[in-house]
Amino acid sequence: MKEVILIKNGELALKGLNRRTFEDMLIKNMRLRLKSLGQFNFEVQQSTIMAEPLSDGIDLDEAAERIGRVFGIAAYSRAIACEKDFQTILRNAADYLEEDLESASTFKVEAKRSDKKFPLTSPEICREAGGYLLGKFPHLEVDVHNPDITVNIEIRDTSAFVHGRQIKGAGGMPTGSAGKACLLISGGIDSPVAGYMMAKRGLSLTAVHFASPPYTSEKAEQKVHKLLEKVSMFSGRIGLWVVHFTEIQESIKDNCPEEIFTVIMRRMMMRVAQIIARRENAGALITGESVGQVASQTMPAIACTDAVCEIPVFRPLIGMDKDEVIAIARNKTDTFDLSFLPYEDCCTVFTPKHPRTRPTLDYVEKAEEAFDWKPMVEEAAKTARLVVIGY
Ligand code: ATP
Ligand code: MG
Repeated sequence: MKEVILIKNGELALKGLNRRTFEDMLIKNMRLRLKSLGQFNFEVQQSTIMAEPLSDGIDLDEAAERIGRVFGIAAYSRAIACEKDFQTILRNAADYLEEDLESASTFKVEAKRSDKKFPLTSPEICREAGGYLLGKFPHLEVDVHNPDITVNIEIRDTSAFVHGRQIKGAGGMPTGSAGKACLLISGGIDSPVAGYMMAKRGLSLTAVHFASPPYTSEKAEQKVHKLLEKVSMFSGRIGLWVVHFTEIQESIKDNCPEEIFTVIMRRMMMRVAQIIARRENAGALITGESVGQVASQTMPAIACTDAVCEIPVFRPLIGMDKDEVIAIARNKTDTFDLSFLPYEDCCTVFTPKHPRTRPTLDYVEKAEEAFDWKPMVEEAAKTARLVVIGY
């Protein structure tokens, strides 16, 4: 009796001819995510991928948890693999699911037989196994509509599998299948959620963080590392570029009208991020902006920011309420408590008292002419420091 994890593909099953490529990507992602736990063998069988530990003592609880965070998986279950002898299968089913069967009141058996040479048909397997389990656990009753537990028996080409509960997977598409994008990450609640959401759509992530020492502290940067570590548990490894933003911010403050300070700063961020994105082969930027949240996120302000962007900017939170974002930060990414820690962000150090909520592009472009920002932007991108986050 050997325990394995059975993985059901998500949306990628729909991808027709590309299916193989997607599957390979999903397996590669799972392999990377499980690597530090030990070696696994992956085998594709119809719409299921089997992950089999190759040595004893591998922590399968942790492996299952990690698999639960890999995008592209609809559902997974822990199962035992055993030889295709019916008596052996029955004994194994009773042993493996003993605890669950003891605590349930009702059950049913479902059978799938892809090896048509197996002597019993699926309905026969269900009937025989049901009878056997009723004999072993006499307190049970059969309920085919709404059972406490479903005992699944699958007869495949290589072996038989028995499993109980199926667990919902992380959904989405395999990370990397949609290319790569560059996440602008602050220490706030929104941007880690935005990164998670786009990784779920199949994008692998690189990240940019703007730090303005001495106005922002080492602790603020550490917080960003920790936030990205959480995101990387879903997205895989992330290369974070930490940009030294102090000179640019000081120049804006010294040369431009205070009421449009934030909009100009955001345009500078986009310019630097784009240079880094290009260098990293990332095809889009990602931000945690949401319409109307703050002065720099009104429609006219976003239009001014977008005017400097030559690649698409993905803003997955654009139409969400803060409550909805917080729900994801709490229940999915587990970043809420970290985000809540009160460290200063470069956005908050020179916040204008009366920001203009309807800046016009003309006005903003004219204001930027007051200083020679181009070499500063290039220098900031060039001197950014790389920190690799995640496993
Ligand atoms: P968040 O919770 O993500 O900080 P926010 O509501 O505080 O969002 P802003 O501070 O206006 O919003 O920032 C909007 C977006 O700009 C962020 O979601 C993030 O994508 C980007 N951003 C802001 N500050 C930084 C920073 N220091 N480094 C990198 N990106 C940043
Ligand atoms: Mg912020």
